[in-house]
Amino acid sequence: MSTSHTSAHASGSPAKRQKRGVPEGLWQRCPGCQQTIFRKQAERALGVCPECDYHWYVSARDRIDQVLDGGTFEEWYAELEPADPLSFGDTVPYSERLKKEQARTGLKDAAVVGTGMIRARRVAFGVTDSAFIMGSMGAVVGEKLTRLVERATEERLPLIIISASGGGARMHEGILSLMQMAKISAALARFDRAGGLFISVLTNPTMGGVAASFASLGDMIFAEPKALIGFAGPRTIQATIRIELPKGFQTSEFLLEHGYIDRIIRRSDLKSEIARAIDYCGKMSRDGKAAH
Ligand SMILES: [Zn+2]
Repeated sequence: MSTSHTSAHASGSPAKRQKRGVPEGLWQRCPGCQQTIFRKQAERALGVCPECDYHWYVSARDRIDQVLDGGTFEEWYAELEPADPLSFGDTVPYSERLKKEQARTGLKDAAVVGTGMIRARRVAFGVTDSAFIMGSMGAVVGEKLTRLVERATEERLPLIIISASGGGARMHEGILSLMQMAKISAALARFDRAGGLFISVLTNPTMGGVAASFASLGDMIFAEPKALIGFAGPRTIQATIRIELPKGFQTSEFLLEHGYIDRIIRRSDLKSEIARAIDYCGKMSRDGKAAH
């Protein structure tokens, strides 16, 4: 476990929690049911609303604590830092935006990768954090995840990636972001040919170029309940095709019904269910080829 992980988690960094998630303070309004919820009660339930089961935002660091066995996470490629190759600016220059996001979240970019144990099974593990420029994928997120896939291939580890990327490919890095989609997908194809098992876990929100690349390429695709998952947002689609969208469009439940995802798993069950899936596929993959 990295020291930055320990300190970021222990301090609870109030700055990083202002915009999203469970803010400091005793009470929190639930985005799902609009009720005022006692924060400690939701935290004990891993950030799930006790009234309506809405799954709140979880930071990458908290996700690591929730899914991996305590103290087993070893971060890989933590030194990779984003650059501003296009000198891009929107309301603020991208280089400044990066500095602000880094200070606010304690992350260098939107992905954290490494290895750890899930109920004593060693895995290659990646997670994206929607608090960092909407969890969007630029060159660093793409490179970290690609290296993770390649190392999982070399070390023959099950691969778990939990996506919370509402931003898709990061526009601030233009084509360099878009090429990450192909780069990771190619690495995943090699991983698959080597017989690797990839479990992709989609959480709220997973959109755009992330949904359209690695997040949809799992041998098994799990999702948290009521997560927003899709490519373009509903307003864009509605404005383009000019028809009323079906009820529940782009939710986990809708996508399960239509065969896009395999299972919906509540956060409290995620760790056990990943471990079970690894065991199940392990039994099927003695010849080096995963079951799915
Ligand atoms: Zn609620």
